[in-house]
Amino acid sequence: MPAGSSPADAKDSAKDGAKRKNFPLRGRTGTAAHHLKAHITDIGTEFLEKLTPREAVMFMAEASWGSTTFMPCPHCGSLDEHYFRAKELRWKCTSCGKTFSVTSGTVLADRKLPLTKILKMALSWANGASGKPALQLRRDWQVSYTTVFTLAHKLREGLLRGFNIGILAGVQEMDGADQLGRRYKEKRNKPRGGDRQKPTIPEHLRAPTVDPDTGEILGPPKPPKFDKAAKQPEDRRLMLVIRQRGLARGRGAVATRVGIALTESRTTVTTMATRYASSESHIMTDEDPSYSRFATLFAEHRTVNHSQAYSDRKGTNNNQAESFNWRMKRLVRGIYLNPSVKYLLDYAGEAAWREDTRRLSVGDRLKHLLKAVMGVGLSRWWRNYSHGHHREEELLLEGAREAGTRGKEKGWKPKPPR
Ligand SMILES: [Zn+2]
Repeated sequence: MPAGSSPADAKDSAKDGAKRKNFPLRGRTGTAAHHLKAHITDIGTEFLEKLTPREAVMFMAEASWGSTTFMPCPHCGSLDEHYFRAKELRWKCTSCGKTFSVTSGTVLADRKLPLTKILKMALSWANGASGKPALQLRRDWQVSYTTVFTLAHKLREGLLRGFNIGILAGVQEMDGADQLGRRYKEKRNKPRGGDRQKPTIPEHLRAPTVDPDTGEILGPPKPPKFDKAAKQPEDRRLMLVIRQRGLARGRGAVATRVGIALTESRTTVTTMATRYASSESHIMTDEDPSYSRFATLFAEHRTVNHSQAYSDRKGTNNNQAESFNWRMKRLVRGIYLNPSVKYLLDYAGEAAWREDTRRLSVGDRLKHLLKAVMGVGLSRWWRNYSHGHHREEELLLEGAREAGTRGKEKGWKPKPPR
């Protein structure tokens, strides 16, 4: 024992030595350990592959209605034990007499693919941690790009209309983050780094000059706008997120709501907060002045000054919201490679769903997805997409606004087959 150290110190250092291992360098996080549990992989593609057409229909019925015998008729809405026609795999309504299948009146209505294939593709799509590119699905399932793109977007639409809804009550964190808006147009063909030319003094900062002919004093020109909005690239958008803290400590947030806006203004953050948070909520944000009205709108508003700390001693922080911002950034930059601004909200809704269902098993996650998606009725935005029916608007917190399109021009129709 070295001189000057007590037996207690020696005991502590021995304990440290036993604890200190080279690997793993960092302890596993809660979610990582969760993913390695046995029950997580309860079903897989193999399970869906083995389903007969009838079993696939029943799997879908159980997921979307919670029953294989008792369901609402999509034509008249009557809830009953409708008569099942095993040969057609359709039900006949006991009230109106019309027949319907498990996908009638849902976003998957008029499907051309067999149900098992749709289930397998949906499972594959749902299994991506931060998203699943349509091209990858196309390669995996040998379908056309339009088919898989439309299917993925129908799932997103279902999540946006069936999952990104409802008011949260409790402790919420709110934050905004810039998404999209690559400034490639400004940067293209410009020298960078060492080739940069010597900077010149901008016109508006130069001293006033005297006109030699008239003797008039010419002041510097009006400076360009310096506010944030003026410098934004056209397709930059602000994603606002509200996340509800769970009651169990260390288990992260339990519910997420998203919105897209052009700017982080008092109007947009208030619209977002009043749409998704109840007046009894306790909201935590950063110190952005746009949140200034929250103290009068909600039960409590606490702010954290990020230049001082990420969290104060009372636990004021918006780290769960910040965490989601980065997940979204990973989805936008790493998986979907800059999706169009028009559908950014759809992608944000997808990210929110992936985040909120992170602790579910594969099977439960697929059922959760189907439950949300199959409950919103017919697709408003993707029905007949391949026939030129597209959503015209970009859905913003400021209100829907007409969006430019990257695809076919307005009124485009496919050529009739020869
Ligand atoms: Zn009916």
